[in-house]
Amino acid sequence: MSSQSVQQKKKIAIVGAGLVGALQACFMAEKGYHVEVYEMRDDIRKSEKVFGRSINLALSCRGKEALRMLGLEDEVTKNGIEMFGRMVHDYKGGTKFIPYGKENEAIMSIDRRKFNELLISAAESYSSVYINYCHKLVDCAFDRRELTFEKSETKELKTVKFDIVMGCDGAYSNLRFNIMKNTKLQYSQEYIPDRYMELRIPPNADGSFMMPKNYLHLWPRTTFMLIGLPNVPDHSFVMTLFAPYQIFESLDSDRKVIEFFRANFVDALEMMGEAFVTNAFRTLPPLPLVSVKCKPYNLEDYGVLLGDAAHAMVPFYGQGLNCGFEDLIVFNEFMEKYDHDFKKVLPEFSEYRSIDAQAMNDLAMRNYKEMKADVNSRLFILRKKLDNI
Ligand code: FAD
Repeated sequence: MSSQSVQQKKKIAIVGAGLVGALQACFMAEKGYHVEVYEMRDDIRKSEKVFGRSINLALSCRGKEALRMLGLEDEVTKNGIEMFGRMVHDYKGGTKFIPYGKENEAIMSIDRRKFNELLISAAESYSSVYINYCHKLVDCAFDRRELTFEKSETKELKTVKFDIVMGCDGAYSNLRFNIMKNTKLQYSQEYIPDRYMELRIPPNADGSFMMPKNYLHLWPRTTFMLIGLPNVPDHSFVMTLFAPYQIFESLDSDRKVIEFFRANFVDALEMMGEAFVTNAFRTLPPLPLVSVKCKPYNLEDYGVLLGDAAHAMVPFYGQGLNCGFEDLIVFNEFMEKYDHDFKKVLPEFSEYRSIDAQAMNDLAMRNYKEMKADVNSRLFILRKKLDNI
């Protein structure tokens, strides 16, 4: 028997059915494994409201390639919209376009919930994948290869056996926490001083977009910024204000909020409406942004961290998820290279992948300065060039 067929008898447990966990379930099922996924939330396809970070995601070529490998690219991208560059808004509402690349290169804006639902359905279409909803990982006994979950309805504990466990449980990964208790995992996390708040520009009365649709709209204001991504399902724009928490704290009355928006984002304020904005500031707490690095990503030959569980990054490069999907491409390549021999695949994957992922983490941190401040000087240079033509 080849190493591959021996290994395929192993039971894979994936913790987390977010975007990375659901896609990894598809990859492992394609390779012939039996996969049990454990997700703490209920099935989001049946839920009215889904709590989570960011309503929209920018999907770039890294992410698209992983989807293409499983034949899912078209299904996902038809639920999104292309963004060909940044549309930069000045203080008076004037705009300037900065393309992302040459010849109409674009990234896609995708509705996060719809995206996750599609990947969960894709995972469940394999007869060898079973998703256990409302199962929250609470403990691990690695020596016995056991995971303990708490069922959300009854609080009952359930212990299951695994051969290989994959932690796709996000930035606050419980699997990573348990690995840290048992091994010498290097770990660092950083909360940046900025927070974010999601707002919305609704569609026009006739259902059309209020701003040109194929752009990432950006209001760079040096120490803070507002961005807007087009949202296909309802033709709204999902707006995100990123600012130091001191700014959020200082906006403690409706009057101050309106003055701040009038001074900095007058066109966006008009489209969102004053009542909507003041209500958002009264009811929505600004959310923190965390960057996580750790190494190694593997636990000997039976555990691995993927996606945000391994490398959560601040969102300014729009690459957190894309990088998580790229983990899966690289993981897949090591599975081929070492004929499914996890003794080799897991440590080699960790060694190789952590270098690139940590670099992406650093780039994401640096791109905040580019987006909120440096983009203004780039516009200045662009204007100069145009003046000289
Ligand atoms: P998650 O999406 O966090 O999924 C983890 C899953 O695990 C969830 O379903 C959760 O319920 C489950 N889970 C957690 N704990 C447990 C437990 N104990 N037991 C069982 N299940 C558990 N990235 C991009 O590429 N492009 C963007 O444009 C972009 N924009 C962003 C904007 C903002 C404001 C933020 C905050 C992030 C953004 N990101 C973006 C990053 C992106 O959201 C993450 O990189 C991506 O969601 C990571 O996916 P994941 O599956 O690894 O983790």
